Amino acid sequence: MTSLPTAFEWRMCTKHPGLVSESFCVKCRRAFCHSCSKIASHGPTCPICGDFCGATREQEEAETLAQLRSRSMWREIRVIARYPLVDIQSYVILGVSVALLNAIPVMGWLLGLGLLAAYGLHAMARVSVGDLSDFQPHFDSIADDLFGPAFLAICATFISAAPHLAWQIFLSPPSMSGLIQEGHPLSTLIAILCWVWQVGYFPMALIVAGESKSCLDTMNPWKGFQLIPRMGSIYWETMAIVFVLNGARLVFVPLLGMLPLPFLGTLAGAFVSAFVFLSTGCTLGFAIRKRAPEMGLE
Ligand SMILES: [Zn+2]
Ligand SMILES: [Zn+2]
Repeated sequence: MTSLPTAFEWRMCTKHPGLVSESFCVKCRRAFCHSCSKIASHGPTCPICGDFCGATREQEEAETLAQLRSRSMWREIRVIARYPLVDIQSYVILGVSVALLNAIPVMGWLLGLGLLAAYGLHAMARVSVGDLSDFQPHFDSIADDLFGPAFLAICATFISAAPHLAWQIFLSPPSMSGLIQEGHPLSTLIAILCWVWQVGYFPMALIVAGESKSCLDTMNPWKGFQLIPRMGSIYWETMAIVFVLNGARLVFVPLLGMLPLPFLGTLAGAFVSAFVFLSTGCTLGFAIRKRAPEMGLE
């Protein structure tokens, strides 16, 4: 970003106030429209002093990004809530496809999860670079574009749920459950800590999955854990939004599945899942965009 020591009107041409500028000179405090601009071999140059000029579009993009980074996640909630509808055609295709895949016995749920994860991770990648226009992935290979994201989503879910699963196995007989019974204050405390990890680490596991595209990295909690302090308050806000979205999915999808009209219930559930995966991807994308420098992703 070009530094602007003293604010001046750099968005509009100084000579032609009705025309937007293309470049501006901080030294002369003047802005130049297309016809007033002078382009040298190394870029826009001030026609008055000959110094380097700043490009208006780059300056605007840098200011927009700086504003986005200074805002909390709460300010993005409206955009997140509308995000699946920015590309309504892809949203409908995703919802219907997931419903059809879920109807296939045995592998259907995995294919459905793969499709949802592919869209969600793709949405995250697009939003993380500031592109909120669409989220349709290019499916060049089923292995890479469907099973890959499905396994990443399973890895992220597993590493988040791992302490909880381990504790359940520990409590189940035959084991040391005689030492700590279920309902014992220590058991309750451990169960709460496992739950806190499950809810708290899940967004980070998804971010690591999307950024690394590696199941091993996703299963390594240290990869994500060390990034949490770097994200500061943005992390906790992201966690709250992801928790509400995915909590709603866990409540509504089984309820819709119980509707007396079997396929309609599955279809409605698939649309809820599609909405949750896309808006979760959008939320995580915003979190990365806001904290990319601190996370070492820029
Ligand atoms: Zn001009
Ligand atoms: Zn100048």
